[in-house]
Amino acid sequence: MKKSEVVLAVCDSYDEEKVYAAVRGAVEALGGIGRFVSAEENILVKPNLLYPSKEEKCITTNPAVIKAVLRILSEEGCTNVKVGDSPAYGSCRQAMNQLGLPEDQLYGARIADMSHEVLVQYPEGKAAKSFWFCEEVVQADALIGVCKMKSHAFMKITGAVKNLYGLVCGMRKARGHVVYPNEAKFAQMLVDIHRLTKPRLHVMDAVIAMEGNGPSSGSPRDMGLIIVSADPVAIDTVFARLVNLNPGLVLTNTHGMIAGIGTCNESEIALKLIDNGGITDISFDEMFARFGKEDFDVCRKKDKVNILGLLSRITGRFSKRPYIDADMCVKCGMCVSHCPVEGHAVTFKNGKDNIPVYDYRKCIRCFCCQEICPQHAIKVK
Ligand code: SF4
Ligand code: SF4
Repeated sequence: MKKSEVVLAVCDSYDEEKVYAAVRGAVEALGGIGRFVSAEENILVKPNLLYPSKEEKCITTNPAVIKAVLRILSEEGCTNVKVGDSPAYGSCRQAMNQLGLPEDQLYGARIADMSHEVLVQYPEGKAAKSFWFCEEVVQADALIGVCKMKSHAFMKITGAVKNLYGLVCGMRKARGHVVYPNEAKFAQMLVDIHRLTKPRLHVMDAVIAMEGNGPSSGSPRDMGLIIVSADPVAIDTVFARLVNLNPGLVLTNTHGMIAGIGTCNESEIALKLIDNGGITDISFDEMFARFGKEDFDVCRKKDKVNILGLLSRITGRFSKRPYIDADMCVKCGMCVSHCPVEGHAVTFKNGKDNIPVYDYRKCIRCFCCQEICPQHAIKVK
């Protein structure tokens, strides 16, 4: 049986040449970029640009990693390359500007607009029968994900599988949380995106990850790796093992494996390590011994799918929930306007001079408010 290959390249900083060498080495170890795309294709490179923010915040894929991928494509002779994501707010171009990535530094690639939506029907979808994608998704022949290793309040982690949710246009993403309100349905929908768009390759920025209150308000954590694979589930499985999280608790892994987009079975994954110019096979245990972070701050609880879980959701008790740190809140209202629930589950009930308050009976625990808060004032307990 052919195994899914995942290549880890040691990379201790965001020095552009070091990152380029690590990404290039990992892609070469998989057979070279020509194995995944051809020069005449329209290629969309999809980084994680959650919203416009500086690279040191660690909220987005680091610009050095984005540039490395674009440089490799340029060297292959690819001339129809766009790079883009649909941020939760702000434009793709603003997000790229915040990262110091104007179009003239992108090796001939153009910044995708990502603001015009196209309805794509998908009757074969398990959870989703259609998507409102950005039109660049429909125009692309080939898709390359360039994700960031981060913890995630709703889905535990955001890596290769979750990254593609940014193909869904603008506020449609927030509304998706109402349509797919629990982790299992949301994971199935994400897997449907992969089945439909068939990304060719995934590059994970794990040089400095985010732990804790991710995906936007956590803390940076040195991991020192670039991870590359064509299998999004395998790459997320490696991510999970590196942070001492059972990969089977990541629902995008389990549903992804069921749907056939990849494997989270370690016996079906071949790991290679690139370090000091050499390449060696490595086991999961050896990988963890060398690079694993046992105390990485990530949710390791099993999602409640039984009757107690259902009850806790209905009553609002026991389940994790967002709350606002009053000392950090500037009452900007972003959390209120981005809450996808009809009538909003977080409102200025006590007036705009006071911090917003939650109605936990209405709240579907999508954590869009926590993700969007520019002051990182929303925590999860
Ligand atoms: S988004 Fe954050 S800062 Fe703005 S009102 Fe909500 S909690 Fe306060
Ligand atoms: S209050 Fe926050 S977590 Fe609850 S539904 Fe609204 S955005 Fe989602």
